[in-house]
Amino acid sequence: MFPNPSRPLVSAPAETAVLALLLAEGPLSRVELARRTGLSSTAVTKAAKPLVEDGYLYELPPERTAPGAGRPVNPLAVSPDREFFVGVKISADTLYGAVCDLRAQVRTTLSRPLGDRGPEAVCALLTDLVAELLDADPAYRPRTRHLGIAVSGDVDRAAGRVRYSVLPGWRDVPLAELAAASTGLTVMVENDVKALTAAEHWFGEGIGTEYFALVTIGAGIGSGLVVNGQLIAGAHGVAGELGHISVDPNGPRCHCGSVGCVEAIASTDAVLGAVRRASTRPDLDFDAAVEAARTGDPVARDAFARAGRAIGVGIATLVSLIGPERVVVTGEGLDTYDLFDTHIRDSYAARCFGAAAQCPLILRPLPWEEWARGAAVVGIQALLP
Ligand SMILES: [Zn+2]
Repeated sequence: MFPNPSRPLVSAPAETAVLALLLAEGPLSRVELARRTGLSSTAVTKAAKPLVEDGYLYELPPERTAPGAGRPVNPLAVSPDREFFVGVKISADTLYGAVCDLRAQVRTTLSRPLGDRGPEAVCALLTDLVAELLDADPAYRPRTRHLGIAVSGDVDRAAGRVRYSVLPGWRDVPLAELAAASTGLTVMVENDVKALTAAEHWFGEGIGTEYFALVTIGAGIGSGLVVNGQLIAGAHGVAGELGHISVDPNGPRCHCGSVGCVEAIASTDAVLGAVRRASTRPDLDFDAAVEAARTGDPVARDAFARAGRAIGVGIATLVSLIGPERVVVTGEGLDTYDLFDTHIRDSYAARCFGAAAQCPLILRPLPWEEWARGAAVVGIQALLP
């Protein structure tokens, strides 16, 4: 049976290192695990033993690493079906849910439109969604302990509280406690961009990187940062607020209270507002603004260009600060990336300091289900201390 859900699956540093490496990059031979972790082969074998016995790891059939190379090795691999994880992303109008296996492969997805956005109503709907997800396959329920919930805004992961979230309009909601009581699962709550960054770092474009960043553009502008292989939360839980870097002291006022923030210039609403103010069409919607820009309307093109430059300066600031190996750019704003692209890249290249500019920007369209997967990955990470 499962160990106590409040305790991680592994605690010793050697076990943690072996499991983390196999989750992200397995299968690997014990020799390769020893080389990568700096442990001795004996220590790797000792660390893997309880995880093999508990069904989390298994040995693949023997394979020779090269013709004539010594005795064959049995690579170790993670058993993906040993445990499942539920992830739910709370967006402004929808709950997106996913069941993922131990390797973060999405196995089942479901979504529910959100009506009442109050914490109790959202929690009730979330509980129904989780139940339906777990009923989708008889294997899920007995092997699921963890639920990860991703929500925008200021989230205190350690306390499981949403301190402030604009989209559902919450202040100081003890979400982990509410959801744990109603679902019976161990619940982790994380900022949605940080959850997505964790998923990309462990299981996507960021695998194996020590310095990595993910930037989201769209209704909000955000980023998640990985430094020394660790997702950075910051002393106050709000590190990586790319959207609230002020790039224009004379720019528009931001909802955060500051002025000239990247988000105040480049969010979907900000771009739309700029097009409306500069045109004679105050009732224009975002799709019409995009259409106008694509058909060459100079006012609309200017608004997107300004947004692109603000995003480029923001990313350059981030890259100059932490020097990531890669930056993934994602979010629903990618749908209109053709209107930003040149402006983002030009201002990024112009503002990056020295060799930091070698860091590539990788565009990665991620559908909403991937955000639910990010939430599930926060659950997977709870297996490790
Ligand atoms: Zn701001």
